[in-house]
This record gives sequence, C-alpha cells and structure tokens, in this order.
Amino acid sequence: MSTAHESDGALGDLIDPELPSATYVLEPGVVAPLVERIATSQSAGTHRSTLPFTGAPLASFPLSSADDVRAATERARSAQPAWADRPLRERTDVLDRLGEIVLRRQSEILDMVQLESGKARRSAFEEVADVAQVCRHFAVRGPDYLADRREPGLLPVLTGVRVHRRPVGVVGVIVPWNYPLTLVLSEAVPALLAGNAVVVKPDPQTTLSALWVAEAVEEAGLPADLFTVVTGGADVGAALVDHVDHVAFTGSTEVGRKVAARAGERLVGATLELGGKNPLYVAADADLASAVPGAVRACFANSGQLCMSIERLVVHEDVADEFLARFVEAVRDLRLGTGLDYTADVGSLVSAAQLERVSEHVDDALAKGARALVGGVHRSDVGPYFYAPTVLDGVPDDARCATEETFGPVVSVTRVASDDEAVRVMNASDLGLNASVWSADVAHARRLAARIEAGTVNVNDGYTSAWGSPGAPMGGFKASGLGRRHGRESVEAMTEAQTVAVQRAARFGASLDSLYALGGDTPSRVLTAALQVMRRLRLP
Ligand code: NAD
Repeated sequence: MSTAHESDGALGDLIDPELPSATYVLEPGVVAPLVERIATSQSAGTHRSTLPFTGAPLASFPLSSADDVRAATERARSAQPAWADRPLRERTDVLDRLGEIVLRRQSEILDMVQLESGKARRSAFEEVADVAQVCRHFAVRGPDYLADRREPGLLPVLTGVRVHRRPVGVVGVIVPWNYPLTLVLSEAVPALLAGNAVVVKPDPQTTLSALWVAEAVEEAGLPADLFTVVTGGADVGAALVDHVDHVAFTGSTEVGRKVAARAGERLVGATLELGGKNPLYVAADADLASAVPGAVRACFANSGQLCMSIERLVVHEDVADEFLARFVEAVRDLRLGTGLDYTADVGSLVSAAQLERVSEHVDDALAKGARALVGGVHRSDVGPYFYAPTVLDGVPDDARCATEETFGPVVSVTRVASDDEAVRVMNASDLGLNASVWSADVAHARRLAARIEAGTVNVNDGYTSAWGSPGAPMGGFKASGLGRRHGRESVEAMTEAQTVAVQRAARFGASLDSLYALGGDTPSRVLTAALQVMRRLRLP
C-alpha cells in the first residue's frame, strides 16, 4: 500500500508547515481531486479519517459549515428545475450509465470502501452489486413509477382526473459509515430519477467514497450542482435538514427521532431507515446444509455492521443441537483479514467506538451468565478494531445485547419448542427491520412471515433476497423506521402527488355551477339520482 505525507499546517508560526503531522495512507494524488468536490469554504476545520485495518491516519479533508450547507442547497435548488424539465429518457440514461461505471470501475471503489470502513472485500462487493441493481432497476422501471395516473372523476366522463408526480426539489441524504457506496445511492438514484437535486451528508469516516460517487455521477452525465457532498457530523446533518424539501435518513433510531422531529417542524417529509435487532428462525424441518452457511453469512457479513444482519438466532429444539454444532464450527472457520482482495470472510469493525460497544455488549452478557460458544474476544492480533465472530448462549433478558442493537459480529441463541413460540420470541423487540425463516415448507414459511413484525422477511435466506430486490420496498416496522426505500414507495416519498381535475362539460356550457344555478333542491335531487346510479353500477 502506498503512503503519503501531508501537513495540517494549522497551528501557527510555532510549527513548521512543511513538517508532516501524520503519515497518511492515501496518496494526495488520490485524495486531492476528490476533496475538491466538497462544498466547503474551508472555514469549519478539517477532519482526519482513520484506516480501520491499522488505526493509521487515512486522509484529511475540510468540513462544511452551516453556511456552506445553505449555499449548497441553494445551488441545488437553482439547478433542479432544468433537470426536472429534461425528458425522462435523459434522466434514466444517466442512471443506466452510472450503474455501468460502478461495475467497470469497481476495483477503485472496492479499495476505497474497504479502506474507509475496514470491511472485507466480499462485503464491499455487495455494495457494487447492489448499486448496479438499483441503477438498472430505476432506469428501467422509472417511467412506470413516474407515469401519470388516470383516476375516476367526480362525474363519469364529465370530469377528467389525472395524478402527476412532481419532484419535491432538493433531497437531503444523510447516511452512516457502514455501507459507504450503497447507502448514498439507494436514496439518491430514485431522487434523481424523479427530477430532484440531491445533497449528501455522509459520515465523516466514509466521506471519500461519497466523493467518488460524485465523480462517477458526473462521468455518467449528471449536470453540475445536482449531486453535492457536504462534510461533517451531527451539526452539518442538522443544518441539511433545515434546508431540504425531503430528508432521506439512514442511521440509528436515536438520531432518526431527532431528524424526524426537525423535519416535522418544517413540514417536510422524512424517510427513516433505522436500526434492527433482527431474528433468524431455524424451523424443525429446515435444511441444515443450507441453513448453516446462510445463517453464518446473515450474522457476520460486514462484521455484523449491517442494519439487516441477524443478531438473534431462534432455533427449534428438535434441530438445535445439530444446527448449533455445525454453526459454531463454521463460525470458528471464518477467516479474518485486512487484504484488499477476496481472502478474508470477515473484516474489521470501523472504529474504536464500535469495538467498545461490541466488547461491552459481550462482556455484559457474559457477566450476567451467558456463555460464549465461540468468539468473545478482541482480535488485536489481526488489527486494532477486529473482534472475533461470537455466538452467545443463555443470554439473560436483562443483558444489553438481548434487546439493544449491537451492530457487530455477535449473535445470541434461543431454543423454542414450537413455531408459535418462535413468532413470539421474534416479535419481542421494539425494532422490526428484517427477519429470516428457514423451512423446507415454503408455504408454511410464508404463513409465519405474515405473523412477523418486520419490514422484510427472507425465506431460506438471511437478508440478501429482500435487500437485493430494488422493486420491493425495504424499511422498518416499529422503531426501525418510517417510510420505505426502494421501489415505487421511494419515488412516491420524493415526489408530491398533484391532482389535475378537468371539468370537461364546462366547454359546452354545462357545469356544476350551471347545475347549482337551477336553485332550490333541484341540484341535490339531480346529484342524489346520479350518485344512486353510480352506486348501482359499482363505479369506483
Ligand atoms: P448515526 O445515527 O449516529 O449517524 C447517521 C448519520 O447521521 C451520520 O451521517 C451522522 O453524522 C448523522 N447525524 C448524527 N446526528 C445527527 C443529527 N442530530 N441530525 C442530522 N444528522 C445527524 O448512525 P451510526 O450509529 O453511525 O450508524 C449505525 C446505525 O445505522 C445502526 O443503528 C444501523 O442499524 C443503522 N442503519 C440502518 C440502515 C437501514 O437501512 N435501516 C442501514 C444502515 C445502517
């Protein structure tokens, strides 16, 4: 890996500005053209990101101020009407090209995503594949999602009604660090399709990946100021909420509540994709040969730092011993690593803070009587923030990891005696993002799915089938979110429905007003008769 020297040069005359304050992992030649894309007046200080694989400084870049955020949204607002006026085909062509660029230039963004997040390359590739899916889907189905809709009018034939989808204007996309490529574009793609401009605020740790996306959308032919990146933390996110016409937020439930409240004050829409405490049920008839590797991937992909990943295993007692023996063995075999290649199954946690949270959850459960069937240790031998994939048995109800999202490579096991008990256990959470059911009887699994309180239920899969189907809405029940990403629902969230109703008879001098002009009870009698006829004909 190449290294580079940079100087912060901000401490005045006492410090030689030429003296490097840190050895950065990324070359200035890679970082500088990306950093130039940040909407910043250089007045809000800088941020230094970290390479999770080693803890070394990764890159330094300027932050945006609240004024920078306002200016960026104003530029976006000026550019947006011309974009919305372009033929839809031109907008879908940009999305189509973007998907192609991400596939073609995947090695660059795979490196960047790994360097910023510490994830294994196979988890990074999920993002590339997801973005290709999303771009293609919205490029192909977009015209259908945005098509005008005819609706029955007040009076058949005499009233013509059409419903149009109008872009809201500027969509603010606020995202965390765990899927630096996917999360930016899951929301930006439908927003741009619908004719909106987008201003993105990534987590500071994964800013460069968002800037790489800014470069890619430009290469795809998106005009200037329609995709802008602002940088910073909570204050910059809050400033963005204050200026946009819709907020697409992905992050924790705690921050999601604040964002919703702030957007609510302004009466702008907010879609909230929040945390999960997702269960996976292994029914008595499950095919263990596929359930075991499926559960391993569902629990430990992206080191468990995935909103849809599984943190609660619910296993029917008839198969529990056999399933757990095979599951624990497979977890023990997982390879941890730092390579920018496909040799590792599991990567690092993103930061010291994530490591602390995961360690605290495990230590708390062990102190309260749980047992680690495998894992339960910090793997500093691999890298400073690595944590061993961990399976906990006998986790008591008062342990933090029984109810709180761990967001790490930790899963607890609960044995159940029946499917009814499994459904009760799965639903015993304030969160309801994703769930998984493994059963040889798909019809039975579908019936169980109908009883599970989660926005997505994957049958004989952990999370990929629902996540990777961008025509189908994805989001949370209960405290896991509000609104949905993907599919028609995402386009509807980022557009205003506008009804245009035409009184056709008016051009022939016959209108509701001429009916009302008859006076007395005649208009009511005529309308009552018309409504009776419409009811008998079962007109909608
Ligand atoms: P977080 O809520 O702390 O931060 C998310 C983003 O919000 C960051 O960009 C952050 O800077 C910004 N932010 C923080 N405070 C803000 C405020 N007051 N106003 C506006 N913006 C603010 O999230 P995190 O802990 O870094 O990320 C992990 C969480 O994200 C987990 O709970 C995970 O489940 C969730 N997540 C959900 C999905 C989903 O699709 N449902 C996907 C990925 C992650």
